Amino acid sequence: MKRLVVAGIGILIVASLLGPGIVWFSPAAQDAVMRRVIASNMGSYDAVLDEDALHVVLCGTGSPMPDPERTQACAIVYAGGKVFLVDSGIGGWDRLARFQLPVGGLGGILITHFHSDHISGIPDIALNSWAAGRREAFALYGPPGVERIAQGLDIAYSLDDGYRIAHHGPEFFAEEGANYLPVVVDVPDRDTSVTVFDEDGVKITAFRVSHEPVDPAYGYRVDYKGRSVVFSGDTKKDSNVARFGAGADVLIHEALATHMVGMLEEGLEHRGDRRAKVMHDIPDYHATPVDAAAVANEAGVKLLVYTHIVPRLPNALAERVFLRGVSSVRGSGVTLGYDGLYLELPAGSDRIVEHDLR
Ligand SMILES: [Zn+2]
Ligand SMILES: [Zn+2]
Repeated sequence: MKRLVVAGIGILIVASLLGPGIVWFSPAAQDAVMRRVIASNMGSYDAVLDEDALHVVLCGTGSPMPDPERTQACAIVYAGGKVFLVDSGIGGWDRLARFQLPVGGLGGILITHFHSDHISGIPDIALNSWAAGRREAFALYGPPGVERIAQGLDIAYSLDDGYRIAHHGPEFFAEEGANYLPVVVDVPDRDTSVTVFDEDGVKITAFRVSHEPVDPAYGYRVDYKGRSVVFSGDTKKDSNVARFGAGADVLIHEALATHMVGMLEEGLEHRGDRRAKVMHDIPDYHATPVDAAAVANEAGVKLLVYTHIVPRLPNALAERVFLRGVSSVRGSGVTLGYDGLYLELPAGSDRIVEHDLR
C-alpha cells in the first residue's frame, strides 16, 4: 500500500513537470493554450446593455498626472439602447477593451471641457467603435469650440482613415464613420440647463460649472426610467452641481486633495523643479474631497463617487490621507472611484449595485 502511494505521488510529480514541458516544446500544445487564452479575452460584457437599468462604468478615474492604476477622464453610460461616453482622456480605450465593454453602439462623447486629459483619447475610441460597427459620424457634444476639436481630429486622422478604408474596404469601414460630427451645446448662463439629448426615455442635460480659466466648462446629468447620474466635470466647489444634480442617485465628482498637492509642491520646490508652480496653481480650479462631499449632501444624492483623482494614490495610506475629513461631512454613501467600477441602477428601485470589473 505504502509503495502504491509513493508511486502515485511520483506519477503526479512527473505529470506536473511534463505538462508545462509539453507546452514548451510542442507547437500543437502551445496553439491549444493560445486559443484558449484568446477565447477567454474575446467576450463582450453585455450585462450593461440590459435596458431595464441605467448603467455607468468608470473607464478612467485619473488626471494628467501619470498613474499606472488610473487612466485619464473616461466614463461610459448605457441606457435604453443608447451609449455615451463622458470625456475621453488617453487610456480610456485600453480600459473599455480590458473590461470587454461593448462600444459598437456608441452615440458620441459628452465633452465637459477641452483640457487635454478629457479629449486625448478620442481618436482611439473613434477608431475602435468604427471597427466595432459604428457607421455614422462620431458625435462630439461639447461647449462652443467643439467644432475646432472635430475639425482638428478630422485633419489629423484623415490619412489614417483613408488607409483603413483602402485596406479593409468601405463595406467594413463605412466612410461616414470616419468623420466627426461636432454638436455645439450652448448653455447661455449659470442659471440654465440645456437638453443635449432626449430620445427613447434617455434625457441628457448640461449645466455650467466653474473651472476658470476654462470657460465654459460643463457638468452633465443623465436621467433614465427614474434613475439618474450626474457628472461634475472638472470644477471647483460649485453650487450649480448641487442645483442641477439635485435628487440624483449618483454624483460622480472630481476631487483634488489640496493638502497632498501642497506636499508635492514643497517637494518639487525643494528640488528647484519649476513644476512646483503647476502644483501651486491647480488647487484653485478643482474641488477637494471634502468640498465634493458637501456638494453631494446639498444635492441629496444617494452615492458620491470620486473621480479625476489628484494626486496619485499608490496605497491604502495615501487613500486614507486623500479622504481625510470626508467622514465628518458625509458619513456614508461615499466611494473612491477606480477604473472598472460599474454601477447598475435598476429601474423601479432605488438600489445602486456596485460591480468591480477589474
Ligand atoms: Zn480640466
Ligand atoms: Zn481634467
